[in-house]
Amino acid sequence: MIHAPSLPQFSTLQAFDHQSQTRLVFGVESLQRLGRLARELSASRVLLVTDPGIVAAGHAARALKILEGAGLKVAMFDRTEENPTTTCVEECVAAAKAAGIDTLVALGGGSSMDTAKGCNFVLTNGGRMQDYWGVGKAALPMLPMIAIPTTAGTGSECQSFALIADAQTHQKMACGDPKAAARIAILDPTLTLSQPPRVTAYTGIDAIAHVVETAVTIKRNAFSLMCAHEGFKLTVPSLPRVFRDPTDLEARGRMLLGAAFAGIAIENSILGAAHSAANPLTARYGIAHGQAVGMMLPAVVRFNGEDPAALQAYAELASAPEIACVSDGLEVALEALIGHLEALLDTIGMPRSLADCGVERSMIPAMALEAAGQWTAGFNPRKVTAEDFAGLYEAAFEPRGGTARV
Ligand SMILES: [Zn+2]
Repeated sequence: MIHAPSLPQFSTLQAFDHQSQTRLVFGVESLQRLGRLARELSASRVLLVTDPGIVAAGHAARALKILEGAGLKVAMFDRTEENPTTTCVEECVAAAKAAGIDTLVALGGGSSMDTAKGCNFVLTNGGRMQDYWGVGKAALPMLPMIAIPTTAGTGSECQSFALIADAQTHQKMACGDPKAAARIAILDPTLTLSQPPRVTAYTGIDAIAHVVETAVTIKRNAFSLMCAHEGFKLTVPSLPRVFRDPTDLEARGRMLLGAAFAGIAIENSILGAAHSAANPLTARYGIAHGQAVGMMLPAVVRFNGEDPAALQAYAELASAPEIACVSDGLEVALEALIGHLEALLDTIGMPRSLADCGVERSMIPAMALEAAGQWTAGFNPRKVTAEDFAGLYEAAFEPRGGTARV
């Protein structure tokens, strides 16, 4: 059944104001340029922010050697954790202060980049992380930062937001300021070859969720749609490829670029209800972000598809990589998109039901309230209440779809 449109149909006249803060340096072995690029930012003392997995993969030692080879003094903070907390940021700030740094280099997944951004806020503007929850709360200049993603997922390298969880309340805080964006992002596909299959799966489906959500939010505009559609075209056919053959550098490059384009789309049009619903699952059950988003996405697309403007937007998105064709009919295209997303989840071995992840149905009312309070919920194309979120969680307990593979 088609509901009355909750919003006007999308117009290309939707205003946007896009100023890229981040220079994108893409290429195989582009990590080699790190020293010279840091020098261009007038760096002399650098804090390399990373995590133990990246140290074990040997990437941190390589980055350190390249930076030192350019004559820079380098200190390392390698205790970044998944879903970084305010405590992690405080430890990073202490390391930055002790080393008297003038530049940050974040090497790793979204967590390392978020930790470095969070550290930059507190180091340069004082106070504590909670003071920067929201947009544009940093009055003073911030240090230049270089972001080097080793996963193809969050697109944090192209965003001005740090996602930091309050260590006490577990509330995820989106702290954004144009000054917090990386000045340079180095996109080197070879760095993503070391991702374990689980990380490839979770971060890859997160990147795909980013393009699916940004393609329909109420802030979508001609620029964000260009990034979302190109990101979708790059990632959707490539995720099964990297899953089948982790050494497929062409597909790895497409995933990395698609995730970065998705990051630019988020910067312009925020996210939607799948991300709002995912945060309580991560906070309460420790479910990885990409997994939580992936499990919620089909139900959210079906829910939003009842809005005519969102239905049209999904059909256009699905037509970009030829999952469907708009001329087949919008409803047909929507079902093809949902079926393709479900098949992708199956192909990469992602659990599809919340029941498989230890989530208790009795927690649905509490989680639904939390989801409705998330910032991203306000940008979803259909108004989404706590009651609606309860329905979305219920749907994610009983996922539809068969065992198709892509
Ligand atoms: Zn995400």
